[in-house]
Amino acid sequence: MRSTVNHVLSVAQFERPFLFELFRRADELATLGAREAVGTAKGAIMATLFYEPSTRTRLSFEAAMTRLGGAVISAEYAAATSSAAKGESIEDTARVVAGYADLLVIRHPEAGSVARAASVVDVPVINAGDGANEHPTQALIDLYTIWRELGRIDGLTIALVGDLRYGRAARSLARLLTQTVDTTVFLVAPPVTRMAPDVVNELRAAGLRVEETDDLYAIAPTLDVLYQTRIQRERFSDAESYTQACGHYVVNRELMQHLPSEAIVLHPLPRVGEIDPAVDDDRRAAYFRQARNGVALRMALIEWMLQRRPAEVVSSNGHHRR
Ligand code: ASP
Repeated sequence: MRSTVNHVLSVAQFERPFLFELFRRADELATLGAREAVGTAKGAIMATLFYEPSTRTRLSFEAAMTRLGGAVISAEYAAATSSAAKGESIEDTARVVAGYADLLVIRHPEAGSVARAASVVDVPVINAGDGANEHPTQALIDLYTIWRELGRIDGLTIALVGDLRYGRAARSLARLLTQTVDTTVFLVAPPVTRMAPDVVNELRAAGLRVEETDDLYAIAPTLDVLYQTRIQRERFSDAESYTQACGHYVVNRELMQHLPSEAIVLHPLPRVGEIDPAVDDDRRAAYFRQARNGVALRMALIEWMLQRRPAEVVSSNGHHRR
């Protein structure tokens, strides 16, 4: 995966040893207090270009860069306030902004658009979500959270629930799970938002056990990780199919009673009714810890992309040191 420019476009580029290296560095960075400056990105500028709404991704990237001692320039509503509103192509915008910054973080509604932008610039580009395709840094955070919470990424039973068709976070996480061993994946989705066959085939080809089911309660007692997702309203062409997809699977107190005591519940957020806030106090509800992990993980990733990584490389036996 090491070309001269370290883009992050798809989880398909990541392999196990890199993941553990990244997770360990993220752990180190997480143990530095939130106020402690790190300095490894000093003098560098990161540009965030967001053509779709974002809270966590943009702000945690910006917090990460700031904590590394770098600077941030941002087009928060790029679709309306950048020259895209005048009809400029993403390639042209990327070319220009690459002249102002050392790293670009781009979110765009069109699948493949961020890769197109990356192909015309000579600074690293991060795909912060391209339509319904991929959200690779979210998947890195998800797997990092599993590793931190459960101490391992192998031998797990994981349910991906909700919008598996348009949810780029679920797609990216599923694809990243091909780097894990002895994994069982349950796909739990309403008929209109089932996981695309290309991803299901990819998982099976990688040796994962994959089962599609509509009975979340039946599998709940077997789970280590329940990964809940939002039905992606913005991707539906008609209101009726959106309504049909909603409300099938809700994580509430009743469902939590069926989950093992050591299981965790994750969600890339935002949630809009698919997790009852009444479960937030349950220690297995890990989604806010997951969101918080975004800063440390993205700090580690930025260091790697800017090739500012401290020299020491950690061994990769796959087990968390705690
Ligand atoms: N924040 C995630 C994304 O941008 C998940 C979501 O929006 O539902 O894909």
